[in-house]
Amino acid sequence: MAPPNTNKRRVVAVVPAAGSGTRMGDPLPKQYLDINGLPMIVHTLTAMAAVSRIEQIVVVIAANDGYWEQTAARHLAPFASRVVAHRVGGVTRAESVLNGLRCVESLFAHHDWVLVHDAARPCIRTELIEQFLDELEDESVGGLLALPVADTLKRSNSDQRVEATVAREHLWRAQTPQMFRFDLLTRALGAMPDATDEAQAIEALGHQPRLVIGESANLKVTYATDMKLAQILLMESERVK
Ligand code: C5P
Repeated sequence: MAPPNTNKRRVVAVVPAAGSGTRMGDPLPKQYLDINGLPMIVHTLTAMAAVSRIEQIVVVIAANDGYWEQTAARHLAPFASRVVAHRVGGVTRAESVLNGLRCVESLFAHHDWVLVHDAARPCIRTELIEQFLDELEDESVGGLLALPVADTLKRSNSDQRVEATVAREHLWRAQTPQMFRFDLLTRALGAMPDATDEAQAIEALGHQPRLVIGESANLKVTYATDMKLAQILLMESERVK
């Protein structure tokens, strides 16, 4: 393979897909659950693969994943040269992302971009990823999609009673994609394996990731009730194509 072109800021994507999805209450890992006739992860990867600026998509799966090969052969053949799975899932999401980065570190220069997107966010729109990449083009550190908190926030005590109302000014809900420089992200995740998103690990090194407005349709499928919403959203986006 040709050596990395260090003049150009390349983009590699990492898709953590090694979770077991126990909160869904289904024995099938949630990334393979059917949404409108396709496994969840196929919706996610198809939207990402349509972004031509993403050079390679590294899918991190669990060592004992028994579903990937069949899913990729059936639904992802057109993207086979750019979508590559590695069986290096970690104990935490951050470990999975870091292990994925280590699989491809020889191919990418320090300042290349790493775009991380959860397999469990299948309603991501290709156009939103494009906008996100455009917004961060001139950033040195990177950033994330996020939404300002709209609801009134309550802090509870251990009896599930309201202890206080929390001011929502300057509070955001973090989404993915999140995008940072290859070397910075590798260092950050190595130092904080329990970070629940990339930005948290980057913040811990003293940086201030840029917040780019996301959209509520870009939900993370976590509970069984989220599946219905994802079905409706994806059906709607098919209709407007
Ligand atoms: O569990 P949660 O919904 O926060 O996971 C977000 C994403 O991270 C999912 O796509 C999941 O498959 C992935 N993940 C992972 N390795 C883990 C835990 C979660 O790749 N150990």
